[in-house]
Amino acid sequence: MTITLGACASSGAAGATVAAALQFFAAAQCLLNEPYPRQADVTDGSHFDFIVVGGGSAGAALAARLAELPQYDVLLIEAGPDPPRETIVPGLRETLKGSRYDWNFTTVDDGYSSQALEGHRQKQPRGRMLGGSGSLNDMVYARGHPVDYEEWARVAGCAWNWTNVLPYFMRTERMTDARIINNTELMKFHGTRGEIEVSGAASTDGPNTKLLNAFREMGFKIVDDMTYPYSIGAGRFSHTIRSGRRDSSLTALLNKVHTNNLHVLKDTLVTKILIENNTAVGVQALSDGKQLHFYADKEVILSAGTFNTPKLLLLSGIGPQEILDELEIEVVQDLPVGEGLQDHVMVINFIAAENGTCERNERAQAFDVIKYLYDRTGFLSYSDSIGVYMPQNYKDPNVPYFAIYPSCVPQALITVDQCTSILGYTNETCMKLVKANEQYEIIVLPVVLLKPRSRGKVTLYSTDPLQNPKILSGTFSNSADMEEFPDAIQTALSLVNTTYFRDKAAHVVDLSPAECGREAGPARAACAARAAALPAWHAVGTAALGAVLDARLRVRGLAGLRVADASVMPAVVRGNTNAPVIMIAEKAADYIKEDHQIYV
Ligand SMILES: Cc1cc2nc3c(=O)[nH]c(=O)nc-3n(C[C@H](O)[C@H](O)[C@H](O)COP(=O)(O)OP(=O)(O)OC[C@H]3O[C@@H](n4cnc5c(N)ncnc54)[C@H](O)[C@@H]3O)c2cc1C
Repeated sequence: MTITLGACASSGAAGATVAAALQFFAAAQCLLNEPYPRQADVTDGSHFDFIVVGGGSAGAALAARLAELPQYDVLLIEAGPDPPRETIVPGLRETLKGSRYDWNFTTVDDGYSSQALEGHRQKQPRGRMLGGSGSLNDMVYARGHPVDYEEWARVAGCAWNWTNVLPYFMRTERMTDARIINNTELMKFHGTRGEIEVSGAASTDGPNTKLLNAFREMGFKIVDDMTYPYSIGAGRFSHTIRSGRRDSSLTALLNKVHTNNLHVLKDTLVTKILIENNTAVGVQALSDGKQLHFYADKEVILSAGTFNTPKLLLLSGIGPQEILDELEIEVVQDLPVGEGLQDHVMVINFIAAENGTCERNERAQAFDVIKYLYDRTGFLSYSDSIGVYMPQNYKDPNVPYFAIYPSCVPQALITVDQCTSILGYTNETCMKLVKANEQYEIIVLPVVLLKPRSRGKVTLYSTDPLQNPKILSGTFSNSADMEEFPDAIQTALSLVNTTYFRDKAAHVVDLSPAECGREAGPARAACAARAAALPAWHAVGTAALGAVLDARLRVRGLAGLRVADASVMPAVVRGNTNAPVIMIAEKAADYIKEDHQIYV
């Protein structure tokens, strides 16, 4: 994940103007169209072979793979509509958070963590549209580390170890990043014949080269490939961007299906799985206020994401007995649904520096629009996000434990609206940040714990299928997660002592809440980290392999029901989760074909 404050961010006036201008010109010239699948013409009570619930990163990939089998009918049901044009333009990626294309999930106030956030709640944006969160994410290509998959294999069997998941990453990947494709060692781990393009930044003129040089001065190795597992350090990420447009399992796979056996039903909310004699036989759904039923002769596959997959399972009587009893839902299967929620923990730090530090005139946004529309180039056409991986103290130096995702915001671009809507900080904290930005450029330094031990929970507020689920983040509920945070933050902030940033009069902007003022040193940093903790939007684990699912992604104790999305991860990987989710969908497609003895 990357935090993009300033340029083109959601409710900022500049961002809104750019988005509106782009919409206007693009609509006039049909430049930003995508061939989304047409709305299925299906009648209530219809039968299909497979029903996939949720057309997000996993669901779009899985439905496309199943539709490659011409003799089988596939129904994909998606709660949201086609994505709006902003999703196509990489530089407008921040404009959708908080919009009607976002589920706008929030966590409950646990009285312990994130107490400095508005309402003491963390925001958990997720895409509610075709492509799901893959239509609004930051397009960073990451996979986690081999040790993550060895951990999965311990609970789910060796089919999930690094050796056995790597070919599934490579299957979908079309690597074109120039820093990687000419390096034989790096290319041992990349695919070039898959559908989703993984590219390098079109330009590296921005401030990130300065930032990377500073991290080099701090002792970090500069690496060409942030996914290379045997040598970690600081570097530029590759992104799922093709010719200046977002690439995803929707644009690269689902949109390319032109066979009549794929039926895509949009704006339709699945409300329950229909289960007879311990077998999933179909789904109940709501569309335009009408209740509909669709039947799956072979399987129902849930790909509704980490928050909505457990919600659907619980609504259907699959979950912990005591929770279902409390909600008066008849128990179909007593399983630990919702219990393993895990996300990276993010604490954002800010450094102010004199003007000129960012070295980019972000105000030339009108010109950016013209460049983008003319030949899909310029600032809007790519992302040049960078990261710094840090190991745990006294542990393997090539296994990441924390990450820093630095970026630079020019003077007077951050607005209170953006800050509250993207970060969830209070008005008061955001005003302090905006005030600092009125005078200085701001280096944003999110420090992210990649291997948390804490677990949260997803349950229901009620049996109303229209209500979002109840999310308890569990952030810092395991005190081990705090142990090295103050040190990691200190490392990030020592950027102010590097040659370039010292010359730019860089200094820390302290936004720690008043109640941490009584503390000093690491205790103060820990207090501030706990109070301002955010999720990094990589939530997983609520229908986990080995707990809720068997090793082939089937719901334990039931026939005809499988899960394929981020919820199946037994533990969050040490990196962004989109590519791992698509890898899971690819494996699910193979399991389904094998289990039904479908040979292509
Ligand atoms: C803001 C943000 C930025 C991110 N940035 C990155 C990044 O740069 N790189 C990276 O690797 N990862 C990133 N991620 C994470 C990554 O995008 C997700 O892990 C991944 O998209 C999850 O895929 P999924 O299929 O599990 O869920 P989703 O993609 O969220 O798909 C779930 C789909 O199911 C639909 N749905 C839900 N309930 C129902 C229902 N009842 N009926 C019908 N449909 C339903 C939803 O509308 C949605 O389309 C980011 C995530 C967010 C939120």
